[in-house]
Amino acid sequence: KESQAPVEDITANDVFIAVKTTKKFHRSRMDLLMDTWISRNKQQTFIFTDGEDEELQKKTGNVISTNCSAAHSRQALSCKMAVEYDKFMESDKKWFCHVDDDNYVNVRTLVKLLSRYSHTNDIYIGKPSLDRPIQATERISESNMRPVNFWFATGGAGFCISRGLALKMSPWASGGHFMNTAEKIRLPDDCTIGYIIESVLGVKLIRSNLFHSHLENLHQVPQSEIHNQVTLSYGMFENKRNAILMKGAFSVEEDPSRFRSVHCLLYPDTPWCPWKAAY
Ligand code: UDP
Ligand code: MN
Repeated sequence: KESQAPVEDITANDVFIAVKTTKKFHRSRMDLLMDTWISRNKQQTFIFTDGEDEELQKKTGNVISTNCSAAHSRQALSCKMAVEYDKFMESDKKWFCHVDDDNYVNVRTLVKLLSRYSHTNDIYIGKPSLDRPIQATERISESNMRPVNFWFATGGAGFCISRGLALKMSPWASGGHFMNTAEKIRLPDDCTIGYIIESVLGVKLIRSNLFHSHLENLHQVPQSEIHNQVTLSYGMFENKRNAILMKGAFSVEEDPSRFRSVHCLLYPDTPWCPWKAAY
């Protein structure tokens, strides 16, 4: 197991958190995030979307219109990831983290995790979505293909990349290059990130069990460990509703994602949290 000791003294302000969303989810998903974890981390959170929304803009300054199509196509999602990468590179932050709009980010534990590494080293950290490397076909030219195997961090659980590594990714990820790279393997945006890092650059994904997507059984996150997780999620899994199990400030009916209850656990001084000494 990796050493738990910090190697670099960073704060939340050193982290660029990109949230991917789409106009149809601004009310149903983004409002929940704005009310919870984003409200405590406005400076470092950047929302990448495809449609204007004054209500969202009012709550935070960092809404970025990607000009990408609002379709759920591979191309549209890669277009958004490309804009996330470019905006991070323009920023002065040390770490790039990507999450979906159904993720809760515990920024305190995220900062603690990242401070165990140096942002100038090549760091790619997240949770693999498969238990083996993905097998893909790389298009070298019109008629030439070759098989490639690599691990990738599932975008739906969130992942982070150090600035040192992001700089090396630039020839395959910056400007229009990300879209071209994505077309070479014809896989989703998170796979393309893994392809650039593992296959092209030869850097290995660091696995962390602190990132969670709704494609895993979220009932398995122990209640006593919820405050230690870096990301959580909610949604569908094997045709059933999937969320963490938690006794908290709100009932499952009031708070199906459990994010409001998690938020009250982490930030009990929040005005809308029922006042209690402890949950
Ligand atoms: N998303 C998007 N455009 C779309 C549909 C989804 O940008 O047309 C985003 C969505 O906001 C979320 C991510 O893609 O951040 C994953 O979408 P969702 O959770 O609906 O699907 P999943 O892949 O998790 O089943
Ligand atoms: Mn999802």
